[in-house]
Amino acid sequence: MKKVFTAKDIAELKLSGGSLPPDAILTPSAKEALSGGPQKTASAAANAGGESSSVVGRKEYTIPVKEYKWTPGGDPKTPQELEKFFFSPKIQELKKLIVDLGRRSYGKNYNDGNGGNFSVRVGDNIVLCTPTMISKGSMSADDMCLVDMDGNQLAGRRKRTSEVLAHLAIMKRQPMCKACCHAHPPHATAFAISGKTPPRCVNPETEIFIGQVGLADYGTPGTQKMADAVGECGVDHDCVFMVNHGVMTWAADIETAFWKMENVEAHCFTSMLAFQIGGPRKFSEKDARELVKIRDAMGMVNQENLKECGLCDSADEVRGCVCASKPPAQAPSAGYDCEAEKLVSKITNMIISELNK
Ligand SMILES: [Zn+2]
Repeated sequence: MKKVFTAKDIAELKLSGGSLPPDAILTPSAKEALSGGPQKTASAAANAGGESSSVVGRKEYTIPVKEYKWTPGGDPKTPQELEKFFFSPKIQELKKLIVDLGRRSYGKNYNDGNGGNFSVRVGDNIVLCTPTMISKGSMSADDMCLVDMDGNQLAGRRKRTSEVLAHLAIMKRQPMCKACCHAHPPHATAFAISGKTPPRCVNPETEIFIGQVGLADYGTPGTQKMADAVGECGVDHDCVFMVNHGVMTWAADIETAFWKMENVEAHCFTSMLAFQIGGPRKFSEKDARELVKIRDAMGMVNQENLKECGLCDSADEVRGCVCASKPPAQAPSAGYDCEAEKLVSKITNMIISELNK
């Protein structure tokens, strides 16, 4: 029976010094690999596994850039220019993505009632955002709003969300922030309304994509006071727990900001379960430092200078870091309290011994 040879088979043949059978059928990429191929080495192709036939010939793997790019100084100014921009193909595409994220977020129970909002910076002084008083599960592209960096509405048939001020407060202070996602996912919000952050050094993915969660002091939703608290905290934290409220995540693009929301909610849920069975087990600070290196290499906001934060060696590692400029009134330790458990155990033993007398 004739055998179909892929680029991976050719690479393995080259490595082993074997030869092709005369009736071998070659895939196009196998022919390319046999003739020397565009740039891929035999060992690299062999390491590429089952994907090799489709990747041979590429110089490197790429991840699509999802960040919205604009020309500095090129913002539309007149009402006509703004209207044209608001309905341009790129903005229409972004609106549809926000609608899709709204459905996904609502479907995951992250948005009670009309809770939560999204925003994407699309110019020096222009931000696309969701409207107020709308379920995130039933938005359409026509519902989106355009505001300037002070929150003044520029376009859209619906009124913009009042909480966009908190999004803008981060964007103004942290240039890396180009998109924000705000929601009330139940487990992460349980930590937030308790003024606590989840444990560190227990989940590698969380260490890389979230790092240290920030705590922003309470402010009435939609006010500048709340916006400033979130803005201050968001400078060094791409995930902020808004005390007595919910969660804000930010990134260079809105999809990644939403992924962070999923990451932190999953981490809080898992941590709560782990607390109930006596965990979580922590990995070492050395292990954590390796993850911090990966985080830095991925271009996440650097948290090395956070004086109030630590990794596994911190006495307050479970409590987490409270933003120094605006500490919430109380931020007691979350979950399992070792000393309290010892005391309960001691008292229980004393009662049992008394009963046994
Ligand atoms: Zn909210």
